[in-house]
Amino acid sequence: MLTSIIGYPRVGKLRELKFVTEKYFRSEITVDELQQTAKEIRKTQWNILKDSGLDFIPSNDFSLYDNVLDTASLFNIIPSRYKELDLSEIDTYFAMARGYQGKSGDVKALAMKKWFNTNYHYMVPEIEDETEIRLAGTKPFDEFKEASLLGIKTKPVVIGVFTLLKLLRYTGSKSAEDFSEEIIKAYSNLIAEFGKLGIEWLQFDEPYLVYDLTKEDITLFERLYKNILGSKGKVKILLQTYFGDVRDVYNQLNALDFDGVGLDFVEGKKTLDLVKANGFPKDKLLFAGVVNGKNIWRNNYKKTLLILSELKEKEINPVINTSCSLLHVPYTLKNETKLSTECTRHFSFAQEKLGELAELKKLVELDKFEYEEPFIANTRLFEHRENCYDADVQKRVSEIQESDFIRHPLFEEREKIQKEEFKLPQFPTTTIGSFPQTADIKANRTAYRKGEITEEEYIEFNRKKIAECIAMQEEIGLDVLVHGEFERNDMVEYFGEKLKGYLFSEKAWVQSYGTRCVKPPIIWGDVSRTKAMTVSWSVYAQSLTEKTMKGMLTGPVTILNWSFPREDISLKESTYQIALAIRDEVLDLQANGIKIIQIDEAALREKLPLRKSDWYNEYLDWAIPAFRLVHSGVKAKTQIHTHMCYSEFTDIISAIDNMDADVITFEASRSDLQILDSLKENNFKTQVGPGVYDIHSPRIPSVEEIQTALNKMLEKINTEKLWINPDCGLKTRGETETTASLKNMVAAAKILRNESN
Ligand code: GLN
Ligand code: ZN
Repeated sequence: MLTSIIGYPRVGKLRELKFVTEKYFRSEITVDELQQTAKEIRKTQWNILKDSGLDFIPSNDFSLYDNVLDTASLFNIIPSRYKELDLSEIDTYFAMARGYQGKSGDVKALAMKKWFNTNYHYMVPEIEDETEIRLAGTKPFDEFKEASLLGIKTKPVVIGVFTLLKLLRYTGSKSAEDFSEEIIKAYSNLIAEFGKLGIEWLQFDEPYLVYDLTKEDITLFERLYKNILGSKGKVKILLQTYFGDVRDVYNQLNALDFDGVGLDFVEGKKTLDLVKANGFPKDKLLFAGVVNGKNIWRNNYKKTLLILSELKEKEINPVINTSCSLLHVPYTLKNETKLSTECTRHFSFAQEKLGELAELKKLVELDKFEYEEPFIANTRLFEHRENCYDADVQKRVSEIQESDFIRHPLFEEREKIQKEEFKLPQFPTTTIGSFPQTADIKANRTAYRKGEITEEEYIEFNRKKIAECIAMQEEIGLDVLVHGEFERNDMVEYFGEKLKGYLFSEKAWVQSYGTRCVKPPIIWGDVSRTKAMTVSWSVYAQSLTEKTMKGMLTGPVTILNWSFPREDISLKESTYQIALAIRDEVLDLQANGIKIIQIDEAALREKLPLRKSDWYNEYLDWAIPAFRLVHSGVKAKTQIHTHMCYSEFTDIISAIDNMDADVITFEASRSDLQILDSLKENNFKTQVGPGVYDIHSPRIPSVEEIQTALNKMLEKINTEKLWINPDCGLKTRGETETTASLKNMVAAAKILRNESN
């Protein structure tokens, strides 16, 4: 059997690409220096792949910023506003990625969107009616040649024509169909050029095929490939899918003239059944994605070898593959010096996954692998894990009753009680939690972390900041205050570090978008709270003001979604464990006099299954109850807020209302406020604070502008339900613009109150 991977992380072992690219952005280095580092990264990686014994080594999986943007550029899909800047090729590319402000003009970046169900974000390319799709670039060829010069023959990877057409944003009147002739020609040319270079295999990534597909989608897919494959000549084409199964097109895609088909056996729940029920064509190579490309746990050889042997029984000789690109896991465990080997032996980052592929390849070729050392060692890993199980936590989860998910009294009654309790003005004003994280605040945290200052000094400094922050909010005239979150560097990491059951890496970075990487914490075992995590800060803050102080927590679904989850228990079970821990904190805050508690669910949408048909039974049916579990124990007069970082919830609006929070704030300033219509249509009961200005930009919104937004909101939202707030936390903003913006926001609220009286 042979081995393959779909793609490799590209920022470099220690994020070299990030640093050098940012230097280029700051004009500290030249294009040549940037390209030189990129070249070295590619060289190092190809050599690692080659040395691991991998049979299919990818190229063109590298990107200076984003591979969707690379593909759009390759085919000349560049909006005219960027072309008009008349910049060099690379600067046009970066202008699309990050926006451009300078001598040549002023344009915003393209929109960014989550890549399927991952935390990677791609640039959404735009296509205009005038766009002429054609093969316009040379990147895939250049990288193939570059590897050839190193003596490495690669399998170039390009985003497939169907997925590309589906992901494009059509800004004119033309649709995907209208561009199909042109794009067929462009892809055919691409294959022809590769043919001239003598490549053997070319991989087209078509993850879009794992969505629910319409008849029209399938027809389009078939038509595109019938045409493109007609001119493939000697080049072998691998159709690669991932992030799920291809139940809607399995037979159709096997009927096409592909030489290889890549299927995901990890996230594709139906993949194995599909293959067993329908068979697999003898003249094609099956690339079986059996090593998880998205999570950091060691592969379970027993399970994997079982899948491979089932395929063998069907007389299929698969290529052992990862389930998706390794882009979604950190580079290597070798960078981790602080985790014990008891932990690390259970993990497998990108580089270690190469080792797993090699081991699996060896094992599968043996008649009896059961007595082989790698197999025995691997099996043992799944028998026991140190400090992972906590009987008390498991008992508590098993004892959860249906009634624990229901808060009493009902919303309507609470709404009345809380009106009495808080006596807030009409259109109450508040913020989302964090205030600007200035350099001194970050320095204080770092100094404490490094042991350079004592705990007392650390607390003293933060208390001073809290006091200043409260004085400022009072002066601005906000109604419900926050303490500012100066003790937090990240809304998930902060809680993860305090919860039992979590592990932290040092350098396990994963690309989130462009030059930005995140370092998700790892859920190692059963999660519980050992002591209060936020109470002292909130209580201190409340002691400084007559106004109501909001307690500030992160919700269980968001904590889970931004961590590497366990694979030995379900996501639901892990989330319930976290929910119980946060529930304890909620009750603790209440017991200590905190009357409003905000539980952020910034990432609730993140793990929504790709197929709509799975949304409820596989996700929302436990994610929403998990949130309710957190707050169902509070008194009627305690007000529960939640916050979400996006307004895309028209399609799950009833689920959001079912979280049964008293107030929800969300991003709305950048969307066209269409969410308002659906709030109205659905009789949304929860009070709402659609963000009135965009905190992602340093711009200060004028009073009039905020008034306009508010008036629009009031056309759809009952006056008794509207809150006024920015659209997200303020931690990335500067202090001056923050104060000015909030002042304008409060002024707009006051005008509105006067008008409606
Ligand atoms: N309370 C958090 C903050 O204000 C929420 C952040 C978020 O939604 N991403 O920073
Ligand atoms: Zn937010």
